Amino acid sequence: MAFQDCFATEDACREYLFASRWPEGFRCRRCGGGEIGERHRGRLVWQCKGCGAQTSVTAGTVMHGTRQPLRLWFWAAYLVATHHPGISAVQLQRQLDIGRHETAWMMLHKLRQAMVAPEREQLKGEIEADEFFLGGYEEGLKGGRQRGEKALVGVAVEVRGRGSGRVRLQVLCDASGDSLGAFITATTATAAIVHTDGWPGYNGLTKLGYDRRARSQRAEPGEQLLPRAHRAVSNLKAWLHGTHRWASREHLPAYLDEYVFRHNRRGIPHAAFQTLLGLSARHEPVTYRQIIDRAA
Ligand SMILES: [Zn+2]
Repeated sequence: MAFQDCFATEDACREYLFASRWPEGFRCRRCGGGEIGERHRGRLVWQCKGCGAQTSVTAGTVMHGTRQPLRLWFWAAYLVATHHPGISAVQLQRQLDIGRHETAWMMLHKLRQAMVAPEREQLKGEIEADEFFLGGYEEGLKGGRQRGEKALVGVAVEVRGRGSGRVRLQVLCDASGDSLGAFITATTATAAIVHTDGWPGYNGLTKLGYDRRARSQRAEPGEQLLPRAHRAVSNLKAWLHGTHRWASREHLPAYLDEYVFRHNRRGIPHAAFQTLLGLSARHEPVTYRQIIDRAA
């Protein structure tokens, strides 16, 4: 309801874009002037009163050059960001009453591109790392086991007390020391404590500057060796089955990125919403409260 009230009109959406772009108020990037003159093209393009330079409020966002209403984009991003298991083009089309399936598909595709951006910040502190196979024969699916279809995927999860912090997933060529070392180096800050199983492929981590701690014995029978990594993998598998049925080898990296995006932003849907629209690359996320306060 709050979202609906906030973004009920094109004006409200424009106001939000404007506030995301110029949180301190309009500043012309050419002359530095703060006064707005003419507005063009459905008031999406703003002209500086001082020098006449034009700026579009949608520049750098997923909505740039679109013919669809901003409201539709905002709703689509909202649904994609908050619909926990993810949303298909068919669902999006139905939910937003979009006439053409191609339009829904294209919007979803554009919003998903924001999820494909690699997560920049490295995992820190204490993590669990493991590797697992994905794909191939699965119970309940038609067709036999197809060898060579399985992908080896590396998982790294931050330890946060008894729970999990951020997660990283990556398709690996093999479980060699080189591949696993490259995966950990790419995802995890040096000096981190890295819990692994006893696989010798992780032996090189110490040389790479990590505090590797191999676990080989369960404290209690039936307990998982690396419970957080294990939980992340089973959640990923459930999500892949539930939302996407199955991910082909070709599309697997994109699905892994989407899963990581959703996992790491669970609990902060407004940040996910802004990232999807392409707003947060420039500024810290603007909160609804800030927008509401501006409008008041
Ligand atoms: Zn100017």
